[in-house]
Amino acid sequence: MLRIVNVLLPTPFDTPFSYAVPDDMQAVEVGRYVTVPFRNKELHGVVWEIPTQPPTFKGVLKQITKVHPFAPLSHTTREFIAWAANYSLTPMGSILKLTLSVPQVFLPIKGKVLTLPSPDIAHAPATLSPAQHTACNTINTALDTHSFAPLVLDGVTGSGKTEVYFEAVAHALSQGKQVLILLPEIALSAQMMTRFAKRFGCAPCLWHSGLTPAVRRETWKAIVDGTAKVVVGARSALFLPYQNLGLLIVDEEHDASYKQEEGVIYNARDMAVMRAKFESIPVVLVSATPSLETVCNLEAKKYTALTLPERHGEAVFCDVQLIDMRKHKPPKGQWIAEPLKKAVLETLGRGEQALLFLNKRGYAPLTLCQACGHRWQCPQCSACLVVHKSAHKLVCHHCGYHEPEPEHCPKCQAEDSITPCGPGIERLAEEAATTFPEAHTALLSSDSMASHEAAENLIGQVMRDEVNLLIGTQIIAKGYHFPNLTLVGVIDADIGLSGGDLRAAEKTWQLLHQVAGRAGREAKKGTVYLQTFLPEHPVMQTLQQHQRDAFVQQQIHERHFAQLPPFGKLASVIIAADTLTDVQKSAQLLAHAVPIMEGLTILGPAPAPLALLKGYHRMRFLVKTPRVFPLQKTLREWLEKAGLPRTVKVQVDIDPYSFL
Ligand code: ADP
Ligand code: ZN
Repeated sequence: MLRIVNVLLPTPFDTPFSYAVPDDMQAVEVGRYVTVPFRNKELHGVVWEIPTQPPTFKGVLKQITKVHPFAPLSHTTREFIAWAANYSLTPMGSILKLTLSVPQVFLPIKGKVLTLPSPDIAHAPATLSPAQHTACNTINTALDTHSFAPLVLDGVTGSGKTEVYFEAVAHALSQGKQVLILLPEIALSAQMMTRFAKRFGCAPCLWHSGLTPAVRRETWKAIVDGTAKVVVGARSALFLPYQNLGLLIVDEEHDASYKQEEGVIYNARDMAVMRAKFESIPVVLVSATPSLETVCNLEAKKYTALTLPERHGEAVFCDVQLIDMRKHKPPKGQWIAEPLKKAVLETLGRGEQALLFLNKRGYAPLTLCQACGHRWQCPQCSACLVVHKSAHKLVCHHCGYHEPEPEHCPKCQAEDSITPCGPGIERLAEEAATTFPEAHTALLSSDSMASHEAAENLIGQVMRDEVNLLIGTQIIAKGYHFPNLTLVGVIDADIGLSGGDLRAAEKTWQLLHQVAGRAGREAKKGTVYLQTFLPEHPVMQTLQQHQRDAFVQQQIHERHFAQLPPFGKLASVIIAADTLTDVQKSAQLLAHAVPIMEGLTILGPAPAPLALLKGYHRMRFLVKTPRVFPLQKTLREWLEKAGLPRTVKVQVDIDPYSFL
């Protein structure tokens, strides 16, 4: 009897392929990891189903080469993969590739086996305050009943949210379950590791793109066999094949970094909720500034709020001062206004730390030649190159292209005519060095904290008070706890407010609130100065008056009125090709195939805001529909009908976050 199984492979196909099970091989169940021949290669996939009908395929079926001894991929994970593929209009095999992201585990590589210490629940448990206790109890009850529960742990920075979810982690561990803690940015893991070790006596397992191959391999295996008890990871950790996941935590749930913008496009926060649903487990969305989507889900009673009302201990939320930059204009080429300067001096004088925040990497966002007006642009993107003085380079922040810092203008050959325009943090650091010559400064950005070690080293310097003036980008806004930091100065609070992003105000408020939360986390009260040209703007007013609810309600109202997410659905379809003609032709094909349906609006084609990216010419359609609408199905049919040539890349982004 010919035995046949259908195997899903980590390749961009939506359906599994049929393979024969050799006669001398034992029965192969669904979920097993297998190696099979595929187009002159060996691939490792998962047995997806055992067909009840003989295959329509007439030739001789290829045979499975090997069945791997790992525990099978669970039914719930398989369901989740299928759902995620359908939702994001991605082939199922591409999602499976995220699960099987370490193909080396299937090769006979011998290496050091990691010894994973077991977290000790009793190591240093916290004594929770009554409000913290109530919050923790709700999570624990959901754990006890083994049921899906989307919970929102909402409290200002420093209210003890981490402390609360650690106790829930302990409870899940006592049930023998695995826990996944998602962080928006892996730079945050350094502090998480330390804190976790303090509470549980050992480090958790880390999952991110910077792991060494050996650690990656061993961690994957430990996740599959259930010995990795707690995994702290970036968004990609969500797709791993946990054996026995019991609790999912999404820290800083509002963070836009959860949106994966390349390859498979997804929002890890939303996917986490769905994964928890398939697993029938609680998922805790943690934030001091929950996203509008989450607030709306709370109002609709789909999610449950766990609220922590105040800061733990003596710490109180900082005092927020607005500096009206129309009245306090610094001299040309400088960016620190007088009131902030004064506050920094006072803070440093008291032996405390100050942070100057500017969300711009590099030296200056724009460089031009004063003689001829030439602007340095990326040859592959419609974007300006940014000077990075520390690296002596001009860098494209979109594709990573870089060239040496120029000595003369390539267009008019003028020397000494190259002029940086506007501030980046390197330039701000230069100003700080002259303005505060006594200070010990440190630059904290994704450039200086690129590696785990570099990040740990810099954070260590801050913790040991070896530096007292921090100059940082958004990377420093998140999660860090610096006891001696009492002053935060935001150099340009208005940065995120311009542009066509529907979340501009929300994101700016969240970021500024988060930065503000860095100040005065312990007994000393913190102060925050926001340098703004728009002191009357609702975002600035909300921050100054600590009135989040009115702001959030007004934002919800605006979105509701415009029927934008979460009240309506939005998708962007970006097509990209090598030449402008090709992309224009395809845009025409799509335009001709636009479906006519009630409620459906398709805007475009228009040049994508980055009309040239990594050498590809790009055009965009924006698709808007009511909340109840078969969006995925409609998109799929539209793309099929248009019949685009295969050389054209199509990128569908459901619920886009970036409008670049
Ligand atoms: P959040 O995650 O909300 O920003 P944290 O959990 O980091 O807050 O708590 C802020 C600070 O207060 C931390 O230093 C933490 O150790 C301390 N803390 C919070 N709750 C407790 C508690 N119940 N017992 C002891 N310390 C606590
Ligand atoms: Zn570029």
